[in-house]
Amino acid sequence: MTDTAQVVIKSGKEKNLLRHHPWVFSGAIEDSSVPAEACICRVVTSEQRFIAWGAYDPESHIQLRLLSWKQDVLPDEKWWRETVRASVIRRRRFFEDKASETTAFRIIHGEADMLPGIAADVYGKIVRIILSARIAWNMRSVVVSAIEDLLHPQMIILNTDSSFCAIEHLHEVTEYYRQGQRFTPTEKLEDIKIRESGLYYSLTPGSGQKSGFYCDQRENRIRLEQYVRDAEVLDGCSYTGGFTLHALRTGARHVQAVDSSSEAVHRLLSNVNLNVELGTLDPDSRDRVDAEKADIFEYLRSMPRNKYDVIILDPPKLAQTIKALENAKKAYKELNRTAMEKIKDGGILVTCSCSGSLSREEFRTVLAWSAKDAGVEVQVLETLGQAQDHPVRLSFPESEYLKVFILRVIK
Ligand code: SAH
Repeated sequence: MTDTAQVVIKSGKEKNLLRHHPWVFSGAIEDSSVPAEACICRVVTSEQRFIAWGAYDPESHIQLRLLSWKQDVLPDEKWWRETVRASVIRRRRFFEDKASETTAFRIIHGEADMLPGIAADVYGKIVRIILSARIAWNMRSVVVSAIEDLLHPQMIILNTDSSFCAIEHLHEVTEYYRQGQRFTPTEKLEDIKIRESGLYYSLTPGSGQKSGFYCDQRENRIRLEQYVRDAEVLDGCSYTGGFTLHALRTGARHVQAVDSSSEAVHRLLSNVNLNVELGTLDPDSRDRVDAEKADIFEYLRSMPRNKYDVIILDPPKLAQTIKALENAKKAYKELNRTAMEKIKDGGILVTCSCSGSLSREEFRTVLAWSAKDAGVEVQVLETLGQAQDHPVRLSFPESEYLKVFILRVIK
């Protein structure tokens, strides 16, 4: 092992890494120890104490990613295969759902599962992999083959995450695999049906917005059910209807869904029809829902006061980066302030933030500003987060990205 590169961490920069934080930026690496090219390396303190094995890549925006903290466990192909396997096996209970009430769930949640830059979701018989790190891209054939061997899916669809391609120097790519072999689909792939908590959703296999489903809100959709009976509900940023279908099933008087994407709006309405046809929603559900393509900021501004008993706000990541945080806070504040002003007295606001760079405490503070400006009292009824198949790794606080508060607004 004499030719293994050794990277030395600057004195004082090693503490978080010894606590298993997996990211090392260039400023923490001793200049004299910077490897000449991308490689697997031994990472040590300035006193030569072993920290971990890592993947160094000068073209990655995170130049060194730590993989294995055990000196005798080298992150070779076998390690990748076993780490993928362990991650899938941790989701055992989802595979044991014999009634198939839920067939969409995450099997790899990136760094939180010790696999940097890899997200993998099961959608029924299909697996979708999204890569956001160069090392994940380089190891993709091992990852695909490990998943193939374990699950034998009908198809694996792999794509690079377009929001990371520029900073990771990756191309926007979609690859399709059947029985572990790459193939090029010759015709349009058929839509697939997935189930979550007994409700059906259809999606189009491939990459892009319409091909996904956010299973991180699974438990929160169930929590919503206790507030919506006979209620007038606004599902803001409804996407394909995750919250809307639950509200309809539990007996909301009416649900108004709003999303800026017309594709999402169409898909939501067809999901309502699908569930009515399959008997998982009452036939009158079609009359209890409207879906509109609109900007949620505009919609909230122009809607009348005291119309809604329940408002759900689940916007996309408003803070993409730490730099964008200040503007994002203003946007979250405005969104929530307007909802608090317009909701009925005693109304329930389910408000979410999936911006990883905005902490839970900061989000709460923003909500307090919103309440102050709206001139209302607000009670926190529930503090929620991401579903358990999207775990938060204690040593990696960045893995806690979804913050959800269920609030009561008192005027
Ligand atoms: N609540 C959804 C997921 C929401 S994802 C579910 O349970 O599945 C965020 C959604 O916000 C996307 O569908 C996106 O199209 C939509 N969106 C983005 N900007 C928006 C805006 N300004 N107004 C309304 N919707 C917006």
